[in-house]
Amino acid sequence: MSTVLQTELHRHLDVSLRPSTLLELAQERGLEAQSTSLDAFLDKLLIREPMKDLAAVLGSFQICQKVLDRPEVLERVAREVCEDMYAEGTLRAELRYSPAFVSEFHPSLSWDDILAAFESGIRQATAKLPGFRAGLLCIISRDYGAEGAEKTVDFFLKNQSRFIGLDLAGNETDFPGSIFRPAFQRAKKAGAKITIHAGESTGPDTIWYAIEDLGADRIGHGVSATQDPQLMTVLRDRKICLEMCPTSNWLTRVVPSFEAHPLPQVLRAGVPVCINTDDPTLFATTLPSETRICTDLMGLTQAEIASCRSHGFAASFL
Ligand SMILES: [Zn+2]
Repeated sequence: MSTVLQTELHRHLDVSLRPSTLLELAQERGLEAQSTSLDAFLDKLLIREPMKDLAAVLGSFQICQKVLDRPEVLERVAREVCEDMYAEGTLRAELRYSPAFVSEFHPSLSWDDILAAFESGIRQATAKLPGFRAGLLCIISRDYGAEGAEKTVDFFLKNQSRFIGLDLAGNETDFPGSIFRPAFQRAKKAGAKITIHAGESTGPDTIWYAIEDLGADRIGHGVSATQDPQLMTVLRDRKICLEMCPTSNWLTRVVPSFEAHPLPQVLRAGVPVCINTDDPTLFATTLPSETRICTDLMGLTQAEIASCRSHGFAASFL
């Protein structure tokens, strides 16, 4: 009998910083006053109510981006994220980041340096945490267009053995999947495992495109899948796991309430689905708290939580 270990598949490394570390780094860089307490900082930083638009919360995302400016910092952050996930009971962790996003404000930070620093932090943590394993997913950010995607896939292919897979994230509406088809076809041909953020702010057609044209083995979010019964059958039959993130979907207004979240419907239709935090720092969440939301507000039984855990473990690229 195989053991199912708590696994988290969808967590953005660069938005998973420990809040006390984020404040310390922001103060060191003069981005936050020395006198600011952690509580006052979190009041400004955390997104606790459904957001008006991305512009309203851009500052919160940018502060995470701005403090990740040196290899030692990236190493520390990756190590702490692993420690925090382990403290949540997670033993298999997939952490994703976009090289273009992390280096955006730091031209002197090379993509090679970023990867080496994150790997080193994960290695340091893994050496101390019994039974824990973590891997990195490389994100192509939609917002940097086709040229950014080609550059990212070149980097990914050059370092393929150091990544567990490739992802596509960002603005689904203005940067549709078709722009990224050549990049993903190259990666697929080289044997890459692929997950795609799709059907979060858009309908089921983007999920179809991710599966049929971009080669997705898994889907990030996939909230709109339930609108299309034929798609649900394909997801079930091909065992394509949906990485769902309830708090994220509520805060970004993808769902009007937790009670309206389609995760229970997806699971009960036999489609593989797992529970994730997405951007835990800014969304002030943890995997145990997402799990509690699934039981207390969405009506999942403990047996159904265990199924989500099995689906996540089975779908991991680790
Ligand atoms: Zn995400």
